[in-house]
Amino acid sequence: MPLFENEVKVSGVEINYFFVCKRKLWFYTHGISMEQNSIRVEMGKEVHDVSLESKRSEMMIDETIRIDYIDKELAVHEIKMSRAMEDASRYQILYYIYYLRNKGIDCKKGVIHFPEMRKTESIEYNEEYEKIIKEAVESVNIIKKLSNPPTAEKSKKCKSCSYFELCFC
Ligand code: SF4
Repeated sequence: MPLFENEVKVSGVEINYFFVCKRKLWFYTHGISMEQNSIRVEMGKEVHDVSLESKRSEMMIDETIRIDYIDKELAVHEIKMSRAMEDASRYQILYYIYYLRNKGIDCKKGVIHFPEMRKTESIEYNEEYEKIIKEAVESVNIIKKLSNPPTAEKSKKCKSCSYFELCFC
């Protein structure tokens, strides 16, 4: 069975944005990017570049997913600057595990590093997560095909979102 219906590829960022905001996902997948103006994202890049440098290998797979690194026990590691979008980060790493498992790699564990806070969080892949991820992949593909963005719904997340002006000004 193909990993993606009609060979439409889904990136880790798309899965992350799906869990943050469907409208944000639509903007991103329609080439509307304002991230370069976001100081927060720039800070994220800086932290990303200096932290855990010795272990990081940044694997790009199928030109679709970019993984920070995989250790000897096949745990997938992701480095994040902030815990602000913790759920989305969790699903992003679960998606990487799902993706690798579909390629025959027996990954089960994910580890998210928050170097700024000197914390790590582990997550174990299971059938329930697999179901959530499968549904998310299908939904991402549906949202990508929409001709208009989903309606803006104001939430706490909007404050730090680079699309805020597009939604509410
Ligand atoms: S500002 Fe809010 S509604 Fe608009 S894209 Fe960002 S998170 Fe979504």
